[in-house]
Amino acid sequence: MGRAFNFSAGPAIMPEAVLQQAAAEMLDWHGSGMSVMEMSHRGKEFISIYEQAEADLRELLAVPAHFKILFMQGGGLAENAIVPLNLSQGGAMDFVLTGSWSQKSLKEAGKYGPARVAASAQADGFTTLPAPATWQIGAHTRYVHICGNETIHGVEFHELPDLKALGCDAPLVVDFSSHVASRPVDWSRVGLAFGGAQKNLGPAGLTLVIVREDLIGHALPHCPSAFDYKLVADNQSMYNTPPTYSIYIAGLVFQWLKKNGGIAAMEQRNIAKAQLLYDFLDSSSLFENRVAKDCRSRMNVPFFLRDESRNEAFLAGAKAANLLQLKGHKTVGGMRASIYNAMPIEGVQALVAYMREFEKTLA
Ligand SMILES: *Cc1c(COP(=O)(O)O)cnc(C)c1O
Repeated sequence: MGRAFNFSAGPAIMPEAVLQQAAAEMLDWHGSGMSVMEMSHRGKEFISIYEQAEADLRELLAVPAHFKILFMQGGGLAENAIVPLNLSQGGAMDFVLTGSWSQKSLKEAGKYGPARVAASAQADGFTTLPAPATWQIGAHTRYVHICGNETIHGVEFHELPDLKALGCDAPLVVDFSSHVASRPVDWSRVGLAFGGAQKNLGPAGLTLVIVREDLIGHALPHCPSAFDYKLVADNQSMYNTPPTYSIYIAGLVFQWLKKNGGIAAMEQRNIAKAQLLYDFLDSSSLFENRVAKDCRSRMNVPFFLRDESRNEAFLAGAKAANLLQLKGHKTVGGMRASIYNAMPIEGVQALVAYMREFEKTLA
């Protein structure tokens, strides 16, 4: 079996060119006589890899100079604790509940201070997004947390909320784990954004944090040193050993993104891929997506067979057609197609062709 189209939600599909380059460089990186995973993180070879990766990411995402880029570990879930440890200063925090991931963030933050619900789409089964004008943000909140793209429920903020326009001076915290680098970011609206790498940037093990400088340096006394943004920033993300190999691979992904037109071009491709899949789902008599049209995710597309007794047959046929990891998350059921940056349009075309065929055989 050759390489399949992989629709996993994460760890997820990687650009093939990146895997090939990593394979070619595996034993001897650029004549150094070492694999990247054998290098000291303080040696000049790895420092050059790290600096290139950071510079490329800053350029790609147009990160302003007054934001720090931190390469951390622990994943999105660890940041659910690390963000309140660094930003809450013991005060209250506000959360907008739009699906499983923001619910998890709320619950974890509650261990470190009062965590409030500013708005929730739970009554809609997380198929809509609460309009920012309706959010009940506390007057003295330390920050407002949103999940930019809910990987499980398939809802996405296509525009980041403008908290200042809502009369709120607190920073916006965005979990962008599953749509980072899929579209440009309006940093004027962001205080901090974090995400695990394994959806859209590279291998698991690397966690990206991009944080406005003035928010650094206020960690609670019991914040673990390795998770104190100030210590991490002051040590160029090398307070402790960073996930060197994951940073290297993410760096190759950043170069791949630059070669392919950067983030704006990627966004156009992502729009086209998502449109193709949603248009088919909306025209189908067998398949359906239940998310309100204006907040459908371009990265994660949950869908259902109206006849659920066909689920197993659908997945078996998909596998035989080299379309992998389409089973939905257990909390939502059904199917889910994750179509991150590295998924070519040919993969979505193959999926739609398979679904069309599958639907026909039932007619
Ligand atoms: C995957 C994911 C997480 C969790 O990431 P881990 O690396 O498993 O901790 C958090 N938030 C979102 C939106 C995700 O998609």
